Amino acid sequence: SYGFAKVAGREEKQARVNDVFHKVARRYDLMNDLMSGGLHRLWKDAMVSWLSPPRRPGWRFVDVAGGTGDIAQRIVRASGDNAEGTVLDINASMLEVGAERAKKRGFDKNLTFIEGNAEALDLPDETFDAYTIAFGIRNVPRIDKALAEAHRVLKPGGRFLCLEFSEVDVPGLDRLYDVWSFKAIPAIGERVAGDRDSYEYLVESIRRFPNQANFASMIGVAGFERVTHRNLSGGIAAIHSAWKF
Ligand code: SAM
Repeated sequence: SYGFAKVAGREEKQARVNDVFHKVARRYDLMNDLMSGGLHRLWKDAMVSWLSPPRRPGWRFVDVAGGTGDIAQRIVRASGDNAEGTVLDINASMLEVGAERAKKRGFDKNLTFIEGNAEALDLPDETFDAYTIAFGIRNVPRIDKALAEAHRVLKPGGRFLCLEFSEVDVPGLDRLYDVWSFKAIPAIGERVAGDRDSYEYLVESIRRFPNQANFASMIGVAGFERVTHRNLSGGIAAIHSAWKF
C-alpha cells in the first residue's frame, strides 16, 4: 500500500480514499475511538468551542468532508439547535449513515446531506457564515482548490476552521506516536475492519500532510486573513482558524 500511494495520481488517490470510506462507513466512529483512544471527541469539541456558533436562527454553516455528520451535530447542539448546516461528502455510504443518524437524533430539520467534492463545491458564492472541515482536507488531492472553494462559499466576515492531524512537537511523544501509527493503527485496522492496507494508507496520508506553519501559509494564499492555529495533544492534531473579509 505504501508503494501504491507514492505512485498514485490524483484520480487514483481519490479512488483509494473513496474505497476506504465505503468500507468503513458503518464502523467509522468505532474506528475513530479505537485509533485515537477517544481523543477525537475532545479535539472535535475543541473545534466547535473555538467556533462557538451563535444561538440564533439563520446562522449557516457547511461541514465539508462531513462524513457521518459528527461535527455538524456538535455544531447544531452548541448553537442551541438553531444553526442550519449542510454536510457535504464525496462518499454516499458515509452520508447515508449520517442522514440516518441525524434523523434518529432529531437533527434532520437542521441538517442537509449532499454528495459533492471539496475541490469543486456545487454551492453558491458567499452563502455560509462558517466553513468547517475535520480530518477531511488531508484526503483531498488538491488542497489549494479546496481552500479556494472554502473562501468562495463563505460570506464576507465568514469563518474557516479546519481540524487535521499535524506535526507532533513534543520530544519523546513523537517516537511513541510513530509506534502507535505504524504498528498499532494498521493492526487495529486489520482486526476490527479486516483491512490493514487502508489503515496503512491513512497513516501515510497523515505523514504527508503539511505541518502547522506550511498549512497556515496555504490558507493565506487562498485569500484568508487572521490565520492562526492551536495544537491539540502536543500537535498530534491542530485546528487552523481564518477569516474571509
Ligand atoms: N469529518 C468527519 C469526522 O471528523 O468524523 C469525517 C472525516 S473522514 C476521516 C474523511 C471524509 O472525507 C470521508 O467521509 C471521505 O469520504 C471524505 N472525503 C474524501 N475526499 C473528499 C473530497 N474530495 N471531497 C469531499 N469529501 C471527501
